[in-house]
Amino acid sequence: MSLIVQKFGGSSLSSAGKVLHVAHIIQRTRAAGHRVIAVLSAQGDTTDVLLDRAHELAAQPDPRELDMLLAAGEQMSVALCAIALRRLDVPAVSLCAWQVPICSDGTHTDARIERIGHERVKAELDAQRVVLVAGFQAVDEAGDLTTLGRGGSDTSAVALAEAFHAELCQIYTDVDGIYTTDPRICPQARRIDCLPYAQMHLLASRGAQVLHARSVALAQRAGVTVEVRSCEPDSRGSRVTAQAPAADVVGVTKRAGAQTGLAEITAVGGALPSAAHERLAIAALERAGIAVRAVEAGADHFALLVDIGRADEALCLVHGALFPER
Ligand code: ASP
Ligand code: MG
Repeated sequence: MSLIVQKFGGSSLSSAGKVLHVAHIIQRTRAAGHRVIAVLSAQGDTTDVLLDRAHELAAQPDPRELDMLLAAGEQMSVALCAIALRRLDVPAVSLCAWQVPICSDGTHTDARIERIGHERVKAELDAQRVVLVAGFQAVDEAGDLTTLGRGGSDTSAVALAEAFHAELCQIYTDVDGIYTTDPRICPQARRIDCLPYAQMHLLASRGAQVLHARSVALAQRAGVTVEVRSCEPDSRGSRVTAQAPAADVVGVTKRAGAQTGLAEITAVGGALPSAAHERLAIAALERAGIAVRAVEAGADHFALLVDIGRADEALCLVHGALFPER
């Protein structure tokens, strides 16, 4: 029987109804004959709320205690989803990272996974249970909880897919795939059917929020196929694999620049950097009165620095210049 790892993001779990919907997706996957490890994020904006609560008490909360606090969000999600699955008569067990165990180094709030234990998860799968694993968290050598950095549940999922030789790692999120830019900011964004690891990694490390950059690097090393999709039944999704062709221009991202007040708009693609593409992008910004403060270019990309207040607009303009209406 094949094994699938399914990761569900916070927006897919933000209410009891959504948790039940996720439980139905897992139930259907199991009914189709797959074994399932589900990796869950904290519900909705729980992680942000917990961070705010810590910052009400201290400007710089102790990182060890922050991890202790933040890990609670994912623990709640797995327990709630196990309760929902049992209501559907699907045998399931929730596990925190220390129970798996998912072992990491001791870098609190930005830990790296070093090793994953096999026995417990294997025993649960052999007993026909769905295994729900709390994402984002791990345990260090001292037995203390760690977290993997914001968005780190994606990395938990890929690491589990590697450890248990899953056929596929599905990342369920609030958009139905990987887009040429953030569809929540630019409605003209287009879904990408499939793309290679290297291009996805560049997009993620340059600000695309859809996948944790470290999860993509790990998937590439381990050869794990990653599918990004939404919880809607008609979601077509996107695949990140080794075989996917590299596009000349694959996407445009936004992130805060190193200098305060500036944002970096990066175009990524196999044909970049190129003077022609840069000219198109800069001309589009200039027509809108957006000053380009600096240009940076390197392997498979170029980046334009603009004032942060106009970053969303700049993102859409650069996207429009490089992906003209068909
Ligand atoms: N809940 C954590 C976060 O908000 C981890 C994750 O969602 O991947 O960053
Ligand atoms: Mg995420």
